Amino acid sequence: MNIHEYQAKALLREFGVPVSRGVPVLKASEAEAAANTLGGPVWVVKSQIHAGGRGKGKFKEASAGDKGGVRLAKSVAEVGEFAKQMLGSTLVTAQTGAAGKRINRLYIEEGSDIDKEFYLSALVDRETSRVAFVVSTEGGMNIEDVAHKTPEKIVTFSVDPATGIMGHHGRTVAKALGLTGDLAKQADRLVTQLYSAFIAKDMALLEINPLVVTKQGQLCVLDAKVSFDDNAMFRHSDVLALRDETEEDPKEIEASRFDLSYVALDGQIGCMVNGAGLAMATMDIIKLYGMSPANFLDVGGGATRDKVAAAFKIITADPNVKGILVNIFGGIMKCDVIADGVVAAVKQVGLNVPLVVRLEGTNVDAGKKIIRESGLNVLSADDLDDAAQ
Ligand code: ADP
Ligand code: MG
Repeated sequence: MNIHEYQAKALLREFGVPVSRGVPVLKASEAEAAANTLGGPVWVVKSQIHAGGRGKGKFKEASAGDKGGVRLAKSVAEVGEFAKQMLGSTLVTAQTGAAGKRINRLYIEEGSDIDKEFYLSALVDRETSRVAFVVSTEGGMNIEDVAHKTPEKIVTFSVDPATGIMGHHGRTVAKALGLTGDLAKQADRLVTQLYSAFIAKDMALLEINPLVVTKQGQLCVLDAKVSFDDNAMFRHSDVLALRDETEEDPKEIEASRFDLSYVALDGQIGCMVNGAGLAMATMDIIKLYGMSPANFLDVGGGATRDKVAAAFKIITADPNVKGILVNIFGGIMKCDVIADGVVAAVKQVGLNVPLVVRLEGTNVDAGKKIIRESGLNVLSADDLDDAAQ
């Protein structure tokens, strides 16, 4: 689960992390009052969407102007003007895809006097089974480019969960960023606070780009992107309350209601598969035969007829889907349950695209019989190659 920048900053503030003061606004009419509470003399008006690259983003509407999704305002009136232009407009960034994202919220923030911009992130490193930090002096940049072109400018280390953050971690960060004296102490404190927040809130990613040193000699978190481990959300109702469903794919929201592992993709072949490994293999073979998957969908081991029907409806509701491939290897999941679910869903919502079904394993004959006797126009396949073709 992802949250907005302003929510991430409020959460980090609870752990003592230095972040700029700011006020979220939902209506342009609230923007000037928000700016007045901050004082000035400069403000930054920031689009709140679950995507980065906002500063360099471009609005689709000419009325929104060409100053990007993060704007420096020199007066309260200008804050109001930018808010009016940006709210309700669609911002396209390197991370939104061509369709862009509609701006429904803004964050009005006090402007910082920036001396230097750094990159700092923490994430779960599955190779070491630890929380790893990634630090670089090349802040504000696309970190993938830095990693590609100048890997020596990136410093990484991981934290032993038995000891937690220790003094040497703070010193590593300070050294990597060229910080000495009081700034080195601030870096040490910051890393400790970030690690505490990461663990306490079951984060999956905490990315600060940029972390800045101000001309007043203070470290400050200027941008924050936080993602959480979905499997831990049951114990963080405070975090769940921050969920903004307008930022999520409606198909994925529906899938999460039925506890389906579903990821929307941009291809044309809808896939319904049991088991993540088989789902990956199915997507690969669709590619091999020249098409692209419209989704990843693992209905899981113990899916019920209702769950299968819900999954099928999500797939058919996607206008990009030009064909459907159901690929089931019955183990714990029984082929007849899948067949029942598919038939029930088709009877409810109809079927306007070709449907290929490949069933194998537990109760396969019963499953094939259900499909055969349903009178539906289904193409049966016996193996994966045959099905994909
Ligand atoms: P994004 O990464 O989505 O483009 P950022 O929040 O990183 O958005 O903002 C882009 C740039 O705008 C930053 O690298 C920084 O230079 C500038 N910026 C952002 N917030 C502030 C602020 N409060 N004061 C001054 N400059 C800011
Ligand atoms: Mg940023």
